Amino acid sequence: MCKRRRFAGVTLLLLALSQPALGEEVKTTLPVVTEGVLANGLQYTLAPIKSDAGRIDVRLSVEAGSLDETNDQSGVAHMVEHMVFRASDAWPEGVSTALAQQGWSRGANYNAVTNYERTQFMMSPPDGVKGLGLALQALAQMTAHARITQPDLDDERKVILEEWRGKLGVAARMNQQRIAALREGSRYPDRPTIGQVASIEHTPATTLQAFYQRWYHPANMRLLIIGDFEPEKVKALITQNFAGLPAITVPLRQDSDYNQQLKKQLRVIHLQDSESGGSQVSWVNRFDEKQMQGTAGYRDRLINQITLSVLTRQLKRQQNALPDSIGNIVARKSETGRSTVAFGLFVDVMPGDYKLGLETLIRERERLIRFGLDADEVADVKSDLLDAATRLAGKPENRTFTDWVQTLAIAWQQQQPYVDSQQRGVRALAELKTITSADINARLKKWLQAPDQVVQFSVPGRVVYSVPLPSEIQRMVTQISTESLTPTVMVKTSALAPLPDHDTSGKRTSVKNYPAESVQEWQLSNGDRVVWMKTAPAKGRLWFEAQSNAGYLGYGLSAWQAQLATQLLRYGAPTGWNEDDYRRWKQDKDLSLSVSQQEYNLEILGNAPASELNTLLHAYQLLHTDNHIDPASIKNSILTFARQQVMQDSSLSSQRQKEVTNLRYGRASFAMPDEAQLSTLSAATLAEQWKKISAAPVTFFVMADLPENTLREAVERYLAGIKRGVPLPAAPYVALPGHREKVSQLNSEPKADVTLWSYSDEVWSPERAVQVSIAENLVTRHLKKVLRDDARGIYNLRFSTVLNDRTNRIETELRFSTSPERARELALLARQAFEHAQSQINDRTVKEMKASFRRSQALWQTYDFMTQRRLILSYRHFNNPGYLSRVSSLDNAITTDGVRAMASRIYNPKNLVIYTVLPQEKK
Ligand SMILES: [Zn+2]
Repeated sequence: MCKRRRFAGVTLLLLALSQPALGEEVKTTLPVVTEGVLANGLQYTLAPIKSDAGRIDVRLSVEAGSLDETNDQSGVAHMVEHMVFRASDAWPEGVSTALAQQGWSRGANYNAVTNYERTQFMMSPPDGVKGLGLALQALAQMTAHARITQPDLDDERKVILEEWRGKLGVAARMNQQRIAALREGSRYPDRPTIGQVASIEHTPATTLQAFYQRWYHPANMRLLIIGDFEPEKVKALITQNFAGLPAITVPLRQDSDYNQQLKKQLRVIHLQDSESGGSQVSWVNRFDEKQMQGTAGYRDRLINQITLSVLTRQLKRQQNALPDSIGNIVARKSETGRSTVAFGLFVDVMPGDYKLGLETLIRERERLIRFGLDADEVADVKSDLLDAATRLAGKPENRTFTDWVQTLAIAWQQQQPYVDSQQRGVRALAELKTITSADINARLKKWLQAPDQVVQFSVPGRVVYSVPLPSEIQRMVTQISTESLTPTVMVKTSALAPLPDHDTSGKRTSVKNYPAESVQEWQLSNGDRVVWMKTAPAKGRLWFEAQSNAGYLGYGLSAWQAQLATQLLRYGAPTGWNEDDYRRWKQDKDLSLSVSQQEYNLEILGNAPASELNTLLHAYQLLHTDNHIDPASIKNSILTFARQQVMQDSSLSSQRQKEVTNLRYGRASFAMPDEAQLSTLSAATLAEQWKKISAAPVTFFVMADLPENTLREAVERYLAGIKRGVPLPAAPYVALPGHREKVSQLNSEPKADVTLWSYSDEVWSPERAVQVSIAENLVTRHLKKVLRDDARGIYNLRFSTVLNDRTNRIETELRFSTSPERARELALLARQAFEHAQSQINDRTVKEMKASFRRSQALWQTYDFMTQRRLILSYRHFNNPGYLSRVSSLDNAITTDGVRAMASRIYNPKNLVIYTVLPQEKK
């Protein structure tokens, strides 16, 4: 829980560096799409969008993925995806080398991805539409002229092996177990796209060539081009690059190759992993929805959507009637093949209470089968959908370039024509009228009674549990079917009670003016302060943030109780209201109010139309005068904590976490609760914590374009008299100085995880923070080059370095995984790379970064969010808004010497911690 949160001040400025070509966000309507096919079978889709001058996005899909591999080709579809970027007939030095020479970089300008069904190549040329010729030439080389040589493969598989290694972990293991359970009866469980380690290490180039020759043909490929171009010119380019390729038909495939074979059965599955905390029982039905695809299936898909929404609402209402050790019950539906689907009900249970969980699940299923869904609820959901459809039908769909690319690409991938939202709205309006409550209930029954069934038990950590036999489950079903049950009924929502009104009025006692920044500072009679910037954050809106030092490490608080209290408070509704009412009321008022607590501070953020100023401040006031914590939400939080507890004793990851904490800090920042503390936790205890937290003096930051008197009246009425107490300063919790290294054998997989931390003392200033950010970008490039491109020892790395304004330290963290044999070597290479990092920083690279920084500055200036963060940052350091006036000249700090000076402090051998986790010893 001691997650470090970076202050969003100056570092945020640089996020945009990695995304060139971010321009004005112009929206356009659906482009006129052209489709065509060459004589050899290559299909293409062209969508001209002129809104972003010169911009273009190219995708080529080869309709072959890991499901199309044979038994000796495990992982080959993905390996081929890597290899086609290497030597080709026209470019024996490699396609990616040729692209790099033209200034293209991997990730930003070209990329590829392989999954079960297909391999997709994406290109967005650095020079936009001017680069389209090169993009198509490269794609033609890759898909028709790749050489795939043995020496190239032997080199490339080092990187693929690290990619495989990087995916190892509990999430992947659990996912594989779920795939085996839910997609049983198909190829999916045996065809993980990344392949098996042995196949990655040993498959010869000839096997890759065989896959390539079988599937990489124009008749099995589709091209999508979106952007600023003339379709006729692009057609000519496509013809020029692809028409000469031979027309070869690929083997015919059956739909059944991509679906599960379903049958009447009840399987019982036990899911467990020593590192996973999931504790759940679920009942899943599998069925086929082939007839629901395409345009003809639209009505059926609408019925599905309504059924799932009504069901979700009904289950939520049933929640309060469930036994104590049973948490949330939810319904989920997901695609498991081309047309096969899984639908299930899932309940969270306390570790150990699986029998009760199963009984509950069977009873709720029985209740649904017997009584169905409430007709009023169906009517309610339908009326929401009608409203939405009316809105959609009323205006043409409008999207930005990036949005269109995403939207059109999804439809294209599914080989469906894109139907825009206006047409969908019109269609929905017509169809909704014909859909009855009987249709919805028939659909739910069909799902619940589909004969192919799976009951799954997810058991956390090392908890021992043996699952029941199918026959035992059947007996329970039969028995529960004779119980008398009552239907879940919809409660009509009554008119809302008026918001409670408490008197927290007070006075504004003084005013200070900062005209250069359009800021006024007000002192209030309760000791709080208001910093008001007279500017509208967006059309007619206002933004509000209350800041205090009541972080969860604050003096006099219990850190875990404090965190729980602020978390639960988020859902808290005022007296006489329920959570749902409160949520809907906020939605109606278009108002948001959220509470977040970090180690050292508490932020309450609000946002509303300017006309709702009083409502927003009133809602804030109620957090202090009329909050209550719902006992039901405490129950769920205790469930979560209890599961964590079970994991804590046994899991490798929590052992790792403990070791890291000791190594870096010498102690934990706070103690976690034990079982006794959890079981005796009451709402009153949490309310007591919140009382202390909310009493710390506050500075309010307000951005609003309002008459001074309007704001003043609201502030004096709702804020100026809130009772405040003492501030809650926290003892600093920082990494210890010195050089320490530790190697632990705690990995259950054949990989080494290397993490390196270092820090240097450096007093924060906006200029130095910018220099560190520039150095971070340049050093990341260098590290990737050394560790991936040259040493071929890693697939990915995570590197961050930041001048922390709270600790006044430059704090650096580097993480990567590699093979256990190479862990020491690569850690050493990384340290050397740091030592030589300065040499990578020269006038040319700094100039490039400076230009990039200026572009992102210009962009960020248009984001109110940035101005807000800067205003707060300014007050934190200078206790006035002066920093806002310094921002525009920040780029002057980006000099070669300045960036070099900071780069030399990124790595400090005197304050260095290296933690290496190796595989566990085989017993
Ligand atoms: Zn890959």
